Amino acid sequence: MTGLRIPDNALLRHKLARLRDRRTDSAGFRRLLAEIGAMLTMEAMADLPEREEAVETPVTATRAQMLAAPEPCLVAVLRAGLGLLEGARGILPEAPVGHLGLVRDEHTLVASEYVVRLPRDLATRGALVLDPMLATGGSAVQALARVKQAGATFIRFACVVAAPEGLRALRDAHPDVPVIAAAVDEKLNERGYIVPGLGDAGDRCFGTE
Ligand code: URA
Repeated sequence: MTGLRIPDNALLRHKLARLRDRRTDSAGFRRLLAEIGAMLTMEAMADLPEREEAVETPVTATRAQMLAAPEPCLVAVLRAGLGLLEGARGILPEAPVGHLGLVRDEHTLVASEYVVRLPRDLATRGALVLDPMLATGGSAVQALARVKQAGATFIRFACVVAAPEGLRALRDAHPDVPVIAAAVDEKLNERGYIVPGLGDAGDRCFGTE
């Protein structure tokens, strides 16, 4: 799919395998999700605009590449996006953080908003939107629409596992937004879970299974 980036990284695949494992407890799940969040953030930021500056090292004067603009904002889709956020903040320590609370109706699978708190400078900084599971794509489509409404133009979406159905929905609604994922899985089941997936990411992250 155009705009889909899956880092070719053995360590990422290893961490994802452990995240999928039902025997991984909540503390381990949270740690792995944060580590994967850091790795996906690195990939999502690989093509940020740069500028060259003069730098004095302890040894000599040189020129070095720096980011042309302040770090983009991080926007966590609640609840499970908080797990990725922990790692993403380690990589982008100066990024303002937004929260989007979206809850999925278990029967219709349609997402509705219960909290929207976005940084004021989203328009100038751009945003990396974080949600581990791209399932039907309903929440992601809505989250990206919110971020665009706030004026952001540089936007990336990072997830751990994507379903083909969710990728199609995102591509149709937001073809301009690159998606960074650790894996694309087989399908959604009748309950809207990704197969093979990793279960309910929010429940596993916060121990509410
Ligand atoms: N949300 C999850 O947490 N898991 C899925 O498999 C689908 C949506």
